[in-house]
Amino acid sequence: MMQWLQLHWQQLLIGFGAGAVFTALLAWLLFYLQQKKWQLNVADQLEDSIQQRTLELQITLTELADKNKLLEQQSTRDALTGVRNRAFFDQKLSAEIKRSRRERSTLGLLMIDIDHFKAFNDNHGHLVGDLVIKEVANCLQQELKRSTDHLCRYGGEEFAIILPNTDKDGAMVLAEQVRLCLENQRIQYEELELSISVSIGCYAAVAEISSTNAEYIQAADIALYQAKNEGRNRVVCSPEVVIPVQETPDESV
Ligand code: GH3
Ligand code: MG
Ligand code: MG
Repeated sequence: MMQWLQLHWQQLLIGFGAGAVFTALLAWLLFYLQQKKWQLNVADQLEDSIQQRTLELQITLTELADKNKLLEQQSTRDALTGVRNRAFFDQKLSAEIKRSRRERSTLGLLMIDIDHFKAFNDNHGHLVGDLVIKEVANCLQQELKRSTDHLCRYGGEEFAIILPNTDKDGAMVLAEQVRLCLENQRIQYEELELSISVSIGCYAAVAEISSTNAEYIQAADIALYQAKNEGRNRVVCSPEVVIPVQETPDESV
């Protein structure tokens, strides 16, 4: 045996060396494959996690947008009637006055007041009064056909309608339509059947540089008071103010 080892020790060493190299290579290959698999797993997990987070973020953003929309709605809508509120009216009228001035288009405004409204409260209670206000708002809203027209609850039992690009004649036609619709309306509350009427003041003009909300509101209000004084259930329009187009200076002079 010893003799055999002495004779073949070199081949044995080469054999062991080759075996060791082969084993090391195999081990390295296995380790490499394991590493790759682990890296792929980590990458997959990372991608899953990113997708999950992106989805969650999208859901949160959508919820946030919905909440913002709701908040915006609540801050510009009247709680009783659901139509635009006074804050919206002030902003919208101001914006439309600027547009009217810029585009030299006629801006119309209707101020609507329920006739003898106090009697509904006094005779039937405030719940009936509230119902009357809601029914009037619904009827007014149904009469508006243009998306650019805006119905707002100005206060108590008064409504305002902003009518961009509408001259005096157009505003009066709409006001008369609204008045007639409400005159024919019957409001049911338990065994009660109530009739209503409104008085409407109307104003339409191309805005001047100096025009303000107060100017439009005052002009429509004056017409409204006149409608009340003349017996109610009618439309009165303030005279239209047409601003002459400013002539460009003659350069030859
Ligand atoms: P006129 O024909 O001159 O307009 O008479 P009117 O009785 O309609 O006018 P007045 O301004 O005297 O009455 C308005 C009343 O509206 C006074 C107030 O108590 C009542 N009011 C204001 N806001 C509300 C509301 O939200 N609900 C109810 N039920 N009543 C309200
Ligand atoms: Mg009033
Ligand atoms: Mg009134």
